Amino acid sequence: MAKSIMQKEKRCYICGSTYDLHEHHIFYGTANRKQSEKYGFKVWLCARHHNMSRDCVHSNYELNLRLRQECQAKFEETHTRAEFMAIIGKNYIWRE
Ligand SMILES: [Zn+2]
Ligand SMILES: [Zn+2]
Repeated sequence: MAKSIMQKEKRCYICGSTYDLHEHHIFYGTANRKQSEKYGFKVWLCARHHNMSRDCVHSNYELNLRLRQECQAKFEETHTRAEFMAIIGKNYIWRE
C-alpha cells in the first residue's frame, strides 16, 4: 500500500485536526479505490470532514472536487496528464 502523495503528517487535510481521523480515498468506486490505494491518492480527514457533516467530502461537491483537483495537480508535478487519465479515466482540471 502506497503512501499518500498529498501529505506526510497524519492530520486532517482540511482543518489539521489529529482527532478521530479516517483514511479517505480521493477517487472512490470499486476500480478507482484500488488505483487510489496503489498510487497514494489518499488523505487523512477528521470525521467531520470525511462523512459526518454537511461539509464533508462525501456530501460536499465543491470540497470533493477540490481534493481531486489538488491530487491530480500533485501527481502531475511528476507525471503527465495522459498518465493520470490512464489511471483514473478522467481529467478533473478543466479550468487552469
Ligand atoms: Zn477536519
Ligand atoms: Zn472517504
